[in-house]
Amino acid sequence: MPADSQNPEMSVSDLLLYTGCPRQVYFVSRGFELIPEMSTSRIERMLLKELALTYSEILNKCSLNADSLHCELEAALTQAQRDLPLLFPGEFASSGKDILVEGAARARAQIPEITANLLKAAEEYGKDALLAALTPVKTEPLLSSGKLNLKGVPSKLVRFEGALVPSVIRPGSCPIQGVWASDRLHAAAFVLLLEAESGEEVPFAFVEYAAFGLVRKVIIRSTDRREVLKICRRVEKIKAGFMPERKEGKLCKQCNFLEPCGSGSSLMSKFF
Ligand code: SF4
Repeated sequence: MPADSQNPEMSVSDLLLYTGCPRQVYFVSRGFELIPEMSTSRIERMLLKELALTYSEILNKCSLNADSLHCELEAALTQAQRDLPLLFPGEFASSGKDILVEGAARARAQIPEITANLLKAAEEYGKDALLAALTPVKTEPLLSSGKLNLKGVPSKLVRFEGALVPSVIRPGSCPIQGVWASDRLHAAAFVLLLEAESGEEVPFAFVEYAAFGLVRKVIIRSTDRREVLKICRRVEKIKAGFMPERKEGKLCKQCNFLEPCGSGSSLMSKFF
């Protein structure tokens, strides 16, 4: 907790958790662990994120044709597959090799689409502009603001058209245009944090859809900032002890907190 704050510090991941289910924020803040189950689709997403971190290096060194780009992406994915258990040893401690191989096969199946979209973007915007949008000035920097009582780690900071802006790598599905509302909120939270650190206005951010090789620019408006601040206040209240109403939803089926959350007040009182 920052010295000048009476409230528990929030992280951008708390805000995202809130948009999924406010009650999950409550359980996590009370020490319950939110451990997403290790699955082939989770490994696929982790590998695609690692692969996305190599796009700029690959585009820098290889000629812009489909065969060489595909080949470099394949090699980078093979390397990411080797590195992943070293990067996340705790997460891989109890999962077998098969799940990694299956996850890598799923990630590999995306390479033709990633190749095609990167080439298309290089043609449409120019290689230099694409490289500027993809090349990290810093990878996974910690941003924090005592004033916002918020901290967070964007995937990277990039310099584009003279501005230092955050970029968020998302390994899931991609909308036909623009970005998903949750990705907009994610990007806006990092913009507010970066502005708090730099003291300069940050007008936009990037969201990279790693499974597709697509990078989307997001203009951050006052409505996005208002939404971040509104959720910050709600999360702050929950972390200070307020338990939100239980709202049955599709997340409940796979939620780690189903038992304490779904139980009556007698079991809840055992925990809290
Ligand atoms: S069981 Fe459902 S309502 Fe309860 S914390 Fe989990 S997702 Fe939220």
